[in-house]
Amino acid sequence: MQTLCAINATCIILADLTLSGNGELMKLLTIDDKYFMQKALNEAKQAFLRGDVPIGAVIVRENEILGYGSDKKSIDPTEHAEVMAIRSCARKLKTWNLSGCTLYVTIEPCPMCAGACVNARISRVVYGAKNYKSGACGTLYNIVRDTRLNHVCEVEYGVMENECLNLLQEYFMQRRKR
Ligand SMILES: [Zn+2]
Repeated sequence: MQTLCAINATCIILADLTLSGNGELMKLLTIDDKYFMQKALNEAKQAFLRGDVPIGAVIVRENEILGYGSDKKSIDPTEHAEVMAIRSCARKLKTWNLSGCTLYVTIEPCPMCAGACVNARISRVVYGAKNYKSGACGTLYNIVRDTRLNHVCEVEYGVMENECLNLLQEYFMQRRKR
């Protein structure tokens, strides 16, 4: 219930601020993104504790979290946080069409995951840190914004960037020490 209270409080403030200018409104919208990015970071931390690559994702529609995912070390190369979150959300909603949903993920999606976002009709992708090795939401490719495909997602990045990146760096530092 804590989640709902936090959201309701934000909504009340948001309603008040619609009268007092866009700057303040934008600030609060960012707080909402931060709130859900924190949830994605929690998934990443779970992966870290398991010894998996700490990348986490959640899928949100109308302020409700409908899917969770994190990277898994397994024989299945498609088990990335975003794909896991899309699968769990689709199972929950009993449909492949996740339009109206926002995917929050700690690191920029790779080409496979960006493709999955397009296929799932995800409306908005919000990621923390850029992925210079395989990012496909603006860094190496921009699959989610490619108008030649049959769906285009809104994209935002840089939400809790340092926290997302630090966790990943800590993981690779620990691995190198071993
Ligand atoms: Zn991926």
